[in-house]
Amino acid sequence: MSNLQIKSFEEYQQKYAKSVQDPEGFWAEIAEHFQWKRKWDQVLEWNFEEPKIEWFKGATLNITENALDRHLADRGDKVALIWEPNDPKEKNITYTYSELHSAVCQFANALKARGIVKGDRVCIYMPMIPELTIAVLACARIGAIHSVIFAGFSASAVADRVNDAQAKMIITADGLNRGTKQIPLKRVIDEALEMCNSIESVIVHNCLGWTPSMTDQRDFWWHECILNESTACQAEEMNAEDMLFILYTSGSTGKPKGVVHTCGGYMVYTAYTFQNVFQYEENDIYWCTADIGWITGHSYIVYGPLLSGATTVMFEGIPTYPDPGRFWQIIDKHGVNQFLTAPTAIRSLMAFGEEHVLSYSLDSLKVLGTVGEPINEEAWKWYYLHVGKERCSITDNWWQTETGGIMISGLGNISPMKPSYAGYPIPGIQPVLLDQKGKEITDNEMEGYLCIKFPWPSILRTTWGDHERCKLTYFSHYKGYYFTGDAAKRDENGMYRLLGRVDDVINVSGHRFGTAEIENAINTNSNVIESAVVGYPHPVKGQSIYAFVVLDKPSDDIENSRGEIVESVVAQIGKIALPEKIQFVTGLPKTRSGKIMRRILRKVAEGDTSNLGDTSTLLDPLVVEEIVANAL
Ligand code: ATP
Ligand code: MG
Repeated sequence: MSNLQIKSFEEYQQKYAKSVQDPEGFWAEIAEHFQWKRKWDQVLEWNFEEPKIEWFKGATLNITENALDRHLADRGDKVALIWEPNDPKEKNITYTYSELHSAVCQFANALKARGIVKGDRVCIYMPMIPELTIAVLACARIGAIHSVIFAGFSASAVADRVNDAQAKMIITADGLNRGTKQIPLKRVIDEALEMCNSIESVIVHNCLGWTPSMTDQRDFWWHECILNESTACQAEEMNAEDMLFILYTSGSTGKPKGVVHTCGGYMVYTAYTFQNVFQYEENDIYWCTADIGWITGHSYIVYGPLLSGATTVMFEGIPTYPDPGRFWQIIDKHGVNQFLTAPTAIRSLMAFGEEHVLSYSLDSLKVLGTVGEPINEEAWKWYYLHVGKERCSITDNWWQTETGGIMISGLGNISPMKPSYAGYPIPGIQPVLLDQKGKEITDNEMEGYLCIKFPWPSILRTTWGDHERCKLTYFSHYKGYYFTGDAAKRDENGMYRLLGRVDDVINVSGHRFGTAEIENAINTNSNVIESAVVGYPHPVKGQSIYAFVVLDKPSDDIENSRGEIVESVVAQIGKIALPEKIQFVTGLPKTRSGKIMRRILRKVAEGDTSNLGDTSTLLDPLVVEEIVANAL
């Protein structure tokens, strides 16, 4: 679709080599494809000590001009956004690029009318409806810093984020639809605001036709705010290094961090990776099932696709409503060509059985993506066979909130695939494996701590309000490197496999295991839906392995399942990796973004459940209670 796109694996190799030899030249050439109000004086200035990283220094731009205005001439009538409602009986809504442009400008004017100016923080706590995308882009239009808060968070979690960001406004809705449930959002905001003092106004979109309580002079209806506003709004001229947004991480490993991304580098990198990883072509329909409350939604529902002039699908509902075939039905309905989802969704749909996917043709699909966690081989194969019908390539996207965009991943139909391997780095990304002493491991077929040794355009610039935390978390473990917190393995061909979090690595009698390897083996049993392993202290071996396993049919013979698990771990890894304890559970503790929180399980395994740490991002506290009650 655009000349940013790599077309073959050979070309990838050439581009990759160039990106390492001459990073500034490489990114400058890509950046030329965007619309800048002023060009940069310098492509890159950086040091990882402070850290201070500046891309396209001196340049000015507005990201919404690149995501919207730029397309109006050639793609004004092209569909930018397809919104699919929770209820399949309800009609979907589409916005063309010119309609989206008008809606964004109009709402941007409404924000200005409420006193929002460049640099103000605006929190967005909304359902997955088009107005969420419009609100995000309207902030960017006028230079306000958006901070989207996932609409499943509780009042106190919302208050924490609002207070940390010292936000001036919240944009929300009366409530949201989620399967058969309707969840009041405005009520949560009212409760949160009792704990906040920086908020001056709240804009409420009327999504469900409810009449929530509205505080005079503070709360305003979206439809009333835009009533007299023009659909033209001049875009604020932003420096490349001005902040675009703050987004809090999922909190799998601890207290969430307010990751800061800036305008220029984030724009260049998300568009570049979107076009290459998904191999998007001009008339394709692309769908990412993430929530915009997470980085994947920011980069690969909103910014990457719209910057590329793509058609992006946004889904309000859940994978299992009205039945577990909902994803596949939507793919057929809209003729989706590229589809991106998470391993947790794949595993849960697998458990409902093939029949829910086999009744759909899925002919339109070309590229399938998976993101957010290591994908186990069993889930990978199911995805490849039943969804991709052995026709589509699978790209496993490894990255983080902090990296802004995909870092290690196959490119659409171009790169070689290997189940459970994310693959090769994106051009411009220089991953390294470090040993425990912080020395670079140069050989292949080795494991180590995954670090990045050179900046890329969308690397985080700071953690909001606490630069020291950014420095300590990412730039202090190994001097001169960005530390990812993940462990990885490089195979004989240089492909990367993610092994899990460094904090979760298990050391049994001097043998180190990533959680992903052992879970992968456990999950090969057909009666296992998913599992999580952690280490706990053992007087002789250092650590023993404790496995938490969710069975498909728990009523079946538990002893039989235990035997099968033991057998597959021995066969695939060896006796040394055998879990000493196997606890069968009905669910695993997960963050609201669907990631397993192993730190809680580690506490259970250690028999220390008095303080579970920050659980504000935990999806279902009941699961934890059950696990604690039945701990071995
Ligand atoms: P916190 O940093 O607050 O603990 P988090 O790390 O869960 O939260 P995210 O930024 O959403 O927050 O997740 C990034 C992490 O997710 C990565 O560091 C990695 O551990 C995991 N991850 C993401 N994609 C993949 C993938 N394709 N394969 C393996 N792991 C992945
Ligand atoms: Mg993290």
